[in-house]
Amino acid sequence: MPSTTKTICIDGQWRAGAQGQTIDVHAPSNGEKIAMLARGTQTDIDDAVGSARKAFDDVWSKTTAGERSRLLSALSARITDCAAELAEIEAQDTGKPMRLAKNDIATTARYFEFFAGAADKLQGDTIALLNGYQAMVNREPRGVVGHIIPWNYPAQMFGRTVAACLAAGNTTVFKPAEDACLSVIRMTELAHEVGIPAGVLNLVTGLGHEAGAALASHHDIDYMSFTGSPEVGTEIQKAAAAHHTPCALELGGKSPQIVFEDADFDRALPVIVAAIIQNTGQTCSAGSRVLIQRSIYDRFVTALARRISALKVGSHLADLDCGPLISAKQLARVQGFIERAHADGVPCIAKGSLDPSADSRGHYVEPMLFGPVDTQHELAQHEVFGPILAAIVFDDEQHAIEIANDTPFGLIAGIWTENGGRQMRVAKQVRAGQVYINGYGAGGGVELPFGGVKRSGYGRSKGFEALREYTVGKTIVINHG
Ligand code: ADP
Repeated sequence: MPSTTKTICIDGQWRAGAQGQTIDVHAPSNGEKIAMLARGTQTDIDDAVGSARKAFDDVWSKTTAGERSRLLSALSARITDCAAELAEIEAQDTGKPMRLAKNDIATTARYFEFFAGAADKLQGDTIALLNGYQAMVNREPRGVVGHIIPWNYPAQMFGRTVAACLAAGNTTVFKPAEDACLSVIRMTELAHEVGIPAGVLNLVTGLGHEAGAALASHHDIDYMSFTGSPEVGTEIQKAAAAHHTPCALELGGKSPQIVFEDADFDRALPVIVAAIIQNTGQTCSAGSRVLIQRSIYDRFVTALARRISALKVGSHLADLDCGPLISAKQLARVQGFIERAHADGVPCIAKGSLDPSADSRGHYVEPMLFGPVDTQHELAQHEVFGPILAAIVFDDEQHAIEIANDTPFGLIAGIWTENGGRQMRVAKQVRAGQVYINGYGAGGGVELPFGGVKRSGYGRSKGFEALREYTVGKTIVINHG
């Protein structure tokens, strides 16, 4: 936990915001104040971008991939050494159950390990041209990268963006979410402890419309990476357009889990439940729609309802199925969806229960299963970002594909069937950045390229593709005669 309000790190120095203002941070489990952040503004962003530019020109662009690899490896090891402390910080700050926080920290260390290993394996191309010429495409870092991340997975988001970005040779200005970012502050300290040079990783805490907007609109940012809501994604893109700064946007989803009549219920049920309750539904890739074939609808929904009814919600320390939502604002948003669903007469099939010892100041909501939900209802179209699952009926394969694709989003999808031909047919026709067959989410998925199509955004994080994303091709042609 930061003991001061010096939570901005520029050129390796910790400082308060240039205007001296602060932001209070509250624990979602009980509403208690746990920290104060520096409220960075334009001046802090200007300084941070200046520091990142200088570090890029003078230091980081001159390091070898092997050196970057060694430093990122050291950071991975340091995060692992401090895993217990970091998990405690993450659980208290986000409200997520302790075992999930532990898993998030292990995944964060794994991101640094993966990209440390990938850093020196990035290769360019040679191209056959005319006789007497040699043509090649080198992969070069983009330069100074701006990162704006949300509050749902602060540690993992830090790993997924910073590890790939630094491995590819870029420097960065990182703007975490004001609601939860304490693990990011601690890991920025660790990064400097292991020797990542000053200015390579700059951290500016602050509000979205101040520090965030200043970063996205900065003229000296070469590439902007954003994960968050579609509305803010639009603002980021508009701000970046003023300088033609390229962006990668990850903007959430309404991901379908498609259950055919030949699905293995025992395999599918626990995974479908986990995909909606993980992080209390505050996950961009949450499986928030379950599409069920009409012939098995009643049987499947009954089994699903039994599992949803057994779910328990409570404090991060109680380590139950779900923790609280992040904030009163998020709770009001999710409750709004629930109230409107009730008012519209959408049947609520099952509901989990709240741990009686949960603090009344926490932002708790029970997981719920609604169904059958009309495909045009907001529960089937909008991202709730809470543990609310919409069951939808379909008749045949083509119908399932139509419904799966009938939202503005396209992030990930799950297909449950034992029929091999159908697995591939459906996987190819569902519009999504990732498709899982008889599974969902594949753990941390550090190795798997991740990102959306349609309104879920564009650009890829994770896996080797992320390393390419943080580079730009330069074509060099030599006329050697
Ligand atoms: P949520 O609504 O779930 O908090 P947001 O998309 O609003 O998610 O926030 C994600 C990140 O975007 C946070 O770091 C937030 O501070 C930042 N942000 C919010 N508004 C803006 C903005 N206008 N410009 C830049 N960043 C912003």
